[in-house]
Amino acid sequence: MPQSKPPKTDPFRIETRLTHDGRNPEAQAGAVNPPAYRMSTVTFPTVAALAEGYANRFDGIYYGRYGTPTSQALEEVLTALEGVEQGPYRTMLTSSGMAAIAGPLLALLNSGDHLLMIDSVYGPTRAFCDTQLNRFGIETTYYAAGDNLAPLFRDNTRLVFCESPGSLTFEIQDLPQIADIAHARDCLVAVDNTWATGLYYRPLHLGADISVQAATKYIVGHSDAMLGAVTCSESLYRRIKPAVSGFGYAAGSEECWLGLRGVRTLAARLRQHQENALKVADWLAAHPNVDRVLYPARPEDTYHDLWRRDFTGASGLFGAVLKLGSDDALAAMLDGLALFGMGYSWGGFESLVIPADRGLTRTARPWNGPGPLIRLHIGLENPDDLIADLAAGLDRYSRS
Ligand SMILES: *Cc1c(COP(=O)(O)O)cnc(C)c1O
Repeated sequence: MPQSKPPKTDPFRIETRLTHDGRNPEAQAGAVNPPAYRMSTVTFPTVAALAEGYANRFDGIYYGRYGTPTSQALEEVLTALEGVEQGPYRTMLTSSGMAAIAGPLLALLNSGDHLLMIDSVYGPTRAFCDTQLNRFGIETTYYAAGDNLAPLFRDNTRLVFCESPGSLTFEIQDLPQIADIAHARDCLVAVDNTWATGLYYRPLHLGADISVQAATKYIVGHSDAMLGAVTCSESLYRRIKPAVSGFGYAAGSEECWLGLRGVRTLAARLRQHQENALKVADWLAAHPNVDRVLYPARPEDTYHDLWRRDFTGASGLFGAVLKLGSDDALAAMLDGLALFGMGYSWGGFESLVIPADRGLTRTARPWNGPGPLIRLHIGLENPDDLIADLAAGLDRYSRS
């Protein structure tokens, strides 16, 4: 029989919480990990228990779409990851990062409302605002990092959405300042925290009301599942969860299990992603074919001071602007890379690259090259091998 253990004494540091939270070996024959509970139906013994199950649907196990012991275990770990405690705060998992963004926006905004959105937001989030929210009569105004937000608020502004650093161009936003301005106008603040995860950035400590993550990226960490997470106060949870559940954005059992497996090694992986990325970024920045590197962890970066103030680390994703060159030269560089896969998403163990200007839309502040922008995800390979691969690629770039 599994032995019960003495109670754990808090507070533990985050690496310890990532290892121990959300586990209950006694409930599963002593096994270290909870299984992937595959469930739709949950059966109740009596009419009264069935009614009570419904009344308790946000906390208990009621029906597969509301959550399972596996999703609840990961939710507990991700709440700790965001630096807040289960009870006053909690996390809900969703079927993808986009569902974690769409859910809160659709739950909290009504027709006729106005939304302030960072210009460098993840492209599909922008598309969601411009198409889906727009169809429902919710208007979006884009602001650039560093803009004075005060004049952009209207009487019907309800929410400010940040993403720091921004997708593809990596601008850091002054979240405490944005939160002060927004809260003075009774507006909520949501942050897409996918890049840093709660490990290196704590939006809920810096004034945000909601932190969302595409857990698809670093939480899952192995490029093999779609998953999203929303962390917020219990009262916001009660407003957002019915929408997430009503839209059917539930996370799958297998995906929750993969997220739980991934999050156990998050701290070790991110430390290595950061070390490798810094080495590759420094090398790139010194290369004659590179105009500049966009990675706030480098002291030369425009946003380095803000990053140092608010972040405790950087992940493996950054941008590089090349010196002027043709599309053919860029294709010659990227097509011939041996170690960098080309494709969307990131946060897995492997290195990736994309030509980034193609997915780049900026309306508040136009993007100026001068050359092509590439986005790199630096994986867990030996960084010297990655540098050699890029060196050969940049040779092809200048020769084409
Ligand atoms: C990938 C990504 C998302 C969307 O996540 P999916 O799981 O692909 O839906 C949202 N925000 C950011 C910043 C991302 O990089």
